[in-house]
Amino acid sequence: MIDVTLVGTGGMLPLPDRWLASLWLEYNGKACLIDCGEGTQIAINQHKLKLSHLDILLITHTHADHISGLPGLLLSLGNCGKTDTLKIYSHKGVAAVIKKLMCICPVLPFDIEIHELPLNEISHFIWNDIDISAIRLNHSIDCLGYSFTLNRKPVFNPQKAISFGIDVRYWKKLHSGDSIEFNNQIITTDMVTDNPRLPIKITYITDTRYFSYLSDFAENSDLLVCEGMYGDDDYIEKMHEKGHMVFSQSAKIALDSHSKRLWLTHYSPALTNPHEYNDFIRSIFPDTTISSDGEHITLK
Ligand SMILES: [Zn+2]
Ligand SMILES: [Zn+2]
Repeated sequence: MIDVTLVGTGGMLPLPDRWLASLWLEYNGKACLIDCGEGTQIAINQHKLKLSHLDILLITHTHADHISGLPGLLLSLGNCGKTDTLKIYSHKGVAAVIKKLMCICPVLPFDIEIHELPLNEISHFIWNDIDISAIRLNHSIDCLGYSFTLNRKPVFNPQKAISFGIDVRYWKKLHSGDSIEFNNQIITTDMVTDNPRLPIKITYITDTRYFSYLSDFAENSDLLVCEGMYGDDDYIEKMHEKGHMVFSQSAKIALDSHSKRLWLTHYSPALTNPHEYNDFIRSIFPDTTISSDGEHITLK
């Protein structure tokens, strides 16, 4: 069960009713935060997320709207009692930026471990049983998109267990992946469960120009969180120049990747009412949410 909360949905600068784009993902009592712009820690607080659960931080890139809130976040983490190591992941070159930002919070009660991921290949690492992949995006500076994949246990089928005559007290053990010996026969998990299920997948893509491989990267996402600076297609060219997309390009990625649902985020401050594009965008990809701050889902 993964809890996902959109901490903020704004691009460029925080607004009174729209914090900067950032995502909070919680699993097994540990949390992962993607990006930390100005005010992100206030938004975390407003959405009643527990800062003390924060275990890793992923940074997409070093534009101020994605990283300038880092020193304040680190100080607050220290104030809320964190003593175990905070791991920060981003692309090559970001460690130097983080170290400079930390000149205003040089003493913390916990260690920081910075992992720089390569830009020339899709990289993978495991956090909290979740496989995280990172892909280079096409922005005005180096930038990473992330996807999270969690394998789901197959569903236990009591009828199959009963057909082997297996006592109910062994069911939990079998479902957890252990084999048992019963009536001189080895019973394995796959003998008493249904077909394997697709993993839970969440993909986070911002900031980038459109490119077709994004659909492969987001393939079969249960949730695709994707940037859209404007709702109007008239902005496609202008946004491309600036390294961004409009809503319909994100909807195309959702459609082509066979994602289950799309949450739009990272709106231009000039886009005061993104919801007016609801009908238009749902005519391209019906399960689109023009997200507001605090959008939340539990994926099982
Ligand atoms: Zn941005
Ligand atoms: Zn940017």
